Amino acid sequence: MSPIPSALFRLTPRGRLLRFLLERKVPSPAALAAYAKKHTRFYADFYAGRDPSDFESLPLLTKSIVREQSPYDLLARPLRRKVVYYGETTGSTGSPTPSFFTAREFHASTLLTYMSPFYPALRAILRENRTCVNGLAFGFTVAGMSFGDLLKNIGGLVANVGSRSTLATPARIARGIARLLPSIVAAAPIDFLSWMRIVEEDHPDRAPRARERLQALVTTAELMSEERAKRISEHFGIQAVDTYACVEGFFSLPCPCGEKHVLPAYHVELFDEELNRIGTEGTGRFAFTNLLKRSSPMVRYLLDDLVTIRASRCPYGYRKTVIPHGRWELTVRVGGENLNVRHFENLIFRHGLFGDFRVVVHEDRIEAVLEDYAAPPGAAEAVRADLEARFGMRAEVSVVPFGEITAYREVRREKPILKLVDARPESTQEIPSLL
Ligand SMILES: [Zn+2]
Repeated sequence: MSPIPSALFRLTPRGRLLRFLLERKVPSPAALAAYAKKHTRFYADFYAGRDPSDFESLPLLTKSIVREQSPYDLLARPLRRKVVYYGETTGSTGSPTPSFFTAREFHASTLLTYMSPFYPALRAILRENRTCVNGLAFGFTVAGMSFGDLLKNIGGLVANVGSRSTLATPARIARGIARLLPSIVAAAPIDFLSWMRIVEEDHPDRAPRARERLQALVTTAELMSEERAKRISEHFGIQAVDTYACVEGFFSLPCPCGEKHVLPAYHVELFDEELNRIGTEGTGRFAFTNLLKRSSPMVRYLLDDLVTIRASRCPYGYRKTVIPHGRWELTVRVGGENLNVRHFENLIFRHGLFGDFRVVVHEDRIEAVLEDYAAPPGAAEAVRADLEARFGMRAEVSVVPFGEITAYREVRREKPILKLVDARPESTQEIPSLL
């Protein structure tokens, strides 16, 4: 488990102050919508004839609507000369969403880090060993840049190695980890597992030291269920800190209480299958309004993940928790329940550390192929029994060696999103064209 003493998990006075200010300074969703209508060409048209003060009557902003716009039409006129960065989402639905950042907006990720009860622990880690290897992607997304920036700002010496590039091959990143001996690695979970496997294989003499020096893994960009984070923490003896975010913002904060909290800077809403509004708590399709982002305002933006939002009893004083389950369009309905990657991942990883996995739901059975990473003997049988008990359906589970699903020595070409396939005729899944 985590090597970090729990006394190091706390909200600092600065973090407390920032949160206090944030809770009181944010404009109302309607005020932000009015600002967007007044200052951007896109929202002026989109809300034509509508009253932004009637916030819930405003149309949802979907990715397909965003796709049709020039990015500049989303840029607010008063901040046109202040924006310094441009980013886009991966765009796995074929519609990358653009976002601009002023220097201050870009710095927000560091301010959020101060608001995290993990902050004192990360600082303590960096005091011992300043080196960080940031292997998040840099292509269009701001993930790589913003995590590199925040690691630097909290005291790190950062190697921005990137990933998904022919310059930063997995073998070269593994070599970097073996030579630099970082205390913190930032990566998508599957990349981290790949690099650490290559460290063992290519640098066996340095691997024990690399593992000993490593204290924390900071992840984003790929769904990481609670059980998967736990298995990674246990296996490597590190603290896993997972951030659920997207290019448009860090709408959640990972917390040592084990939950991800919705930041006070976001107004969140949930919608059902037909896009009827459910409310601000429950389980449904996720839309958010970033109340602080003024350069390219995101109002009722349908991120369209399936999430649960609920009140929290966080000991650090955060009030709202978000649980991402996976992408809405990949939802599988079994026994009247909307299930997604997280549900299966939690069930599978409870029984050991796997690499990637594929689950296919057939009419009469569930078929699961699990990539072994460090799973104990009997894990497949335990997963099978659990799947059958949970879904009342026959399950077939096979374990294959790591590398069979994840080509871990090759530059990764796609996000490992497609883990769950509904092969039944009633399937409503829409498989993204680009992963
Ligand atoms: Zn918490």
